[in-house]
Amino acid sequence: MPFERVLGQPAAVATLTRALLRGKVHHAYRFEGPDGVGKELAAVAFAQALVCVGGVPLGCGACDACRRAETRSERAPVVPLHPDVIMVGRAVYPPELIGGKKESSEISVEQVRRVVLTRVAYPPHEARNQVIIVRGAEELSVSAANALLKTLEEPKSGTYFVLLTSQPEVLMDTIKSRTLPVRFGPLPDDVLRTVLRGRGIAEERIDSLAALAGGSASAALEFADPERSLVREEFVRGLLEAVRSPGLGPAIAFAEGGERERGWVVESLGALATTFVDQAREHAASGSPRARVAAERYALVVDAIDAIERNGQAALVISGLVASLKAARQLRPGTPPVVRVSRR
Ligand SMILES: [Zn+2]
Repeated sequence: MPFERVLGQPAAVATLTRALLRGKVHHAYRFEGPDGVGKELAAVAFAQALVCVGGVPLGCGACDACRRAETRSERAPVVPLHPDVIMVGRAVYPPELIGGKKESSEISVEQVRRVVLTRVAYPPHEARNQVIIVRGAEELSVSAANALLKTLEEPKSGTYFVLLTSQPEVLMDTIKSRTLPVRFGPLPDDVLRTVLRGRGIAEERIDSLAALAGGSASAALEFADPERSLVREEFVRGLLEAVRSPGLGPAIAFAEGGERERGWVVESLGALATTFVDQAREHAASGSPRARVAAERYALVVDAIDAIERNGQAALVISGLVASLKAARQLRPGTPPVVRVSRR
């Protein structure tokens, strides 16, 4: 059954399978949770159950409909082959298919009009139901969300929506009140290890990759990519070198060196944070007071990650981080902390 592939999310899977088995499926769900924890996988499994022709309420996973629901077309747009499983998301469709609009930062109202509204006006092509999956629903533009809202307000039987989001707080209240939340948590390390093993990652790297990934399977796989991890190591090494160098010149030079994508910086700082956690753990195990200094540094990095995620300019935050890590270096193990418990 398709839901068996959704690992480490027993509560979410139970909510969905119960609704399907009882025939009490809500017309619109909102899958909330961090990136890379199985929201889209669960949405596809849910869609398979709703279009299956194998006579299995939770989807058989083997019939032609189930297979086309989970198979994506090889050419753009990369969407499910089943015509009644409709994928919406920023830049999923080439601009020429959605009125020439290039979606660099949001899902346009043109996409919602052309991909969703034209479809929900008619019955499903071949299945009993049609399912619209909105990836990254927080990226819906205001007009796109409003266009979608009309169909969410007047649900037609046989039409189901699944909105996927890692930032539910960004969604309009009207969208939230029309959708039923299903929560997805970070994946436990043993699930991450299973995913990494399934991708053939070398056994000796699995534990550290799982620890780095912060509960996200997509982050774990990205960390596993040797090219990316090499560049990340260079970043971490460069940053620590700037911390050790005298004066603030090296900090600024490092912070401004090179175009770095925000998400990449956040991931790389995550790797640095893990280094400090490991140090703190080692020092604590040996009873060394240096554990405290490592914990301080960890908190500083986490604060920097927070600042970047809250739309701070990466270069500014990095130079500030190098400066405060320098200050933390002067700390003696007995002094009171400069930073308190982090927000995460
Ligand atoms: Zn089936």
